[in-house]
Amino acid sequence: MKVLVINAGSSSLKYQLIDPATEEVFAKGLCERIGIGGHLKHTPLNGKPVFDEDIDLPTHNEAIAAVLDKMTSEAYGVVASMKEIDAVGHRVVHGGESFASSVLITDEVMKAIEDCIPFAPLHNPANLTGINACTEVMGKDVPQVAVFDTSFHQTMPAKAYTYAIPHEYYDNDKIRRYGFHGTSHRYVSGRAAEMLGKPIEELKLISCHMGNGSSICAIEGGKSVDTSMGFTPLVGLPMGTRCGQLDTGAVQFIMNKYGFNIDEMLNILNKKSGVLGISGVSSDFRDLDNAAADGNDRAALALDVFNYWVAKTVGGYTAAMNGVDAIIFTAGVGENSASTRAAICEYLGYLGCSVDAEQNSKRGEDLVISTADSKVKLLVIPTNEELMIAMDTAEIVGK
Ligand code: ADP
Repeated sequence: MKVLVINAGSSSLKYQLIDPATEEVFAKGLCERIGIGGHLKHTPLNGKPVFDEDIDLPTHNEAIAAVLDKMTSEAYGVVASMKEIDAVGHRVVHGGESFASSVLITDEVMKAIEDCIPFAPLHNPANLTGINACTEVMGKDVPQVAVFDTSFHQTMPAKAYTYAIPHEYYDNDKIRRYGFHGTSHRYVSGRAAEMLGKPIEELKLISCHMGNGSSICAIEGGKSVDTSMGFTPLVGLPMGTRCGQLDTGAVQFIMNKYGFNIDEMLNILNKKSGVLGISGVSSDFRDLDNAAADGNDRAALALDVFNYWVAKTVGGYTAAMNGVDAIIFTAGVGENSASTRAAICEYLGYLGCSVDAEQNSKRGEDLVISTADSKVKLLVIPTNEELMIAMDTAEIVGK
């Protein structure tokens, strides 16, 4: 089966064509500047050349049409015709409390995703646009599946998702912790169980997804029992540019003193905070490593703050599960930064975590980086949200 995986943003659309059974990726690419010009980078993985040009993309419909055109073309193609694409899997950011797993997209599902727009006002409308564009261009007969960032975390108990504010805001408005990166946490936890050779039902895992956005997830018996992001992806750990946990009293103080309205304040907390805000250097951990090595104290502080938050969150989740069998590092920083992993594990010595320096210096594959006598297994697992989406899609469509 060949599944087209779509991640639609407001002016962009990422895609991959995958066979979930063999894990083969046939092509991947990105449409950008949809509605304000247009650019398509299409990369076939069968040896044909890359297409990387400005093209007119007034709406997502033209973007999908352009992707399918390249996918089936003589020069850049990977399939003979569109008929070879069996199904489409969409990343959808917010499923609220309506979706605890991936689903076949129907009119009712579209309505439920629409109902979640207030929770993700930028993302869910873009995801819906992507789904509608596929229906328009590919026709109603090609089944489409929605895979939600939030659904994996729907297993969290009330004590983990309840905010200590008047309960009517939950009862009436569903204000609670939802959590994100669920597709990534689910994928790496499944891989971890395979690597450890144990049924996931018997494992206590902590997954550290550390990229531009970062979140940590406690996974007991294969189920998310707590996670660091909340009602929105702004909170939890300090991130590339997002503030993470913050006293709302400080928000009020800054808004009053500098006369910011709430949109200006949220822009600062989303785009100018995190390790970028602390360091004043960059949101990219490679830049911070270099700056810190050159003696930049604020870059070093930003890295310290990040590592400290990861370590204390892992400690908290170990308490929440009364133990941990393995800690997983994934996403851009987790997969690539040996120094970040080492600094975090340094804090976790009390748990019996011990890093094998040579293993930790390796790259780009599933790795065990703990020493043989480490009480907790330390794993590096490259995440693959697209594959997870393709696998869910195949399973649901196959039923
Ligand atoms: P996103 O959250 O946008 O999916 P990624 O998971 O791709 O992001 O992570 C991107 C981040 O990974 C970069 O901003 C950078 O901080 C970090 N990163 C990538 N490669 C390295 C590296 N070799 N060393 C340290 N950090 C890295």
